[in-house]
Amino acid sequence: MLARPIIGIPMQTQNTSDAFWVMRKQYIDALRNAGAIPWIIPLLADDPETLREIFDRLDGLFLAGGADVSPARYGEAAKPYLGATDPERDAVETAFVRMSLDARLPIFAVCRGLQLLNVACGGSLHQDIRAEVPAAIKHDYFAADLHIRTACVHDIAVKAGTRIADIFGSASLSVNSMHHQAIKELAPNLTASAFAPDGIIEAVEAKASFAIGVQWHPEELAATEPAMRRLFEAFTAAATEGMGP
Ligand code: MN
Repeated sequence: MLARPIIGIPMQTQNTSDAFWVMRKQYIDALRNAGAIPWIIPLLADDPETLREIFDRLDGLFLAGGADVSPARYGEAAKPYLGATDPERDAVETAFVRMSLDARLPIFAVCRGLQLLNVACGGSLHQDIRAEVPAAIKHDYFAADLHIRTACVHDIAVKAGTRIADIFGSASLSVNSMHHQAIKELAPNLTASAFAPDGIIEAVEAKASFAIGVQWHPEELAATEPAMRRLFEAFTAAATEGMGP
């Protein structure tokens, strides 16, 4: 039997107390169901040596959703419409993105994860879509209603010839949407591989290695949508491939 790849997942600071680090179980389950060993990473922003030791044991990196990336990371001051930030997590995830790209370790990034990936690679973000892109459709479906997490509320157009197009085998599909920020300037080493009808970037991928990011939440749809499950499976397959004989 093939060994299962170890996928590192940096945690997030709990929004009610900085004495706790947490991670949503849906991500863990989607990765586990795709054959990965999910491995939670503590936010030891002040301990690069320990982070390096953790990194050396990983086969892939997963970046989950969460708080806004600190605008200082892309050279902007915080606007009034910026949401909560998590600077320790920004630092740890940025370090892991750099180490992963250097080592050509596969990356899969969701929502904030896509945004962090873009910023870590030199891109920037709209601090709030409504405030900065007035013509945009609604992307911030944050109702208390739990079903909103699995509601497919807008279409995306997938660019032909990209990894994501390969994974989906379809040019258009409908996705959930729980984000108030989006990519402004795309990082030079990334390609935009899917767009919302208003032009907002909904997926990216690296040019040089397996690194994909999606703006929607496939982990919420993986149980019911085979196409969303295939995203996790393609990532796990790439991580397994990198493990060597
Ligand atoms: Mn969206």
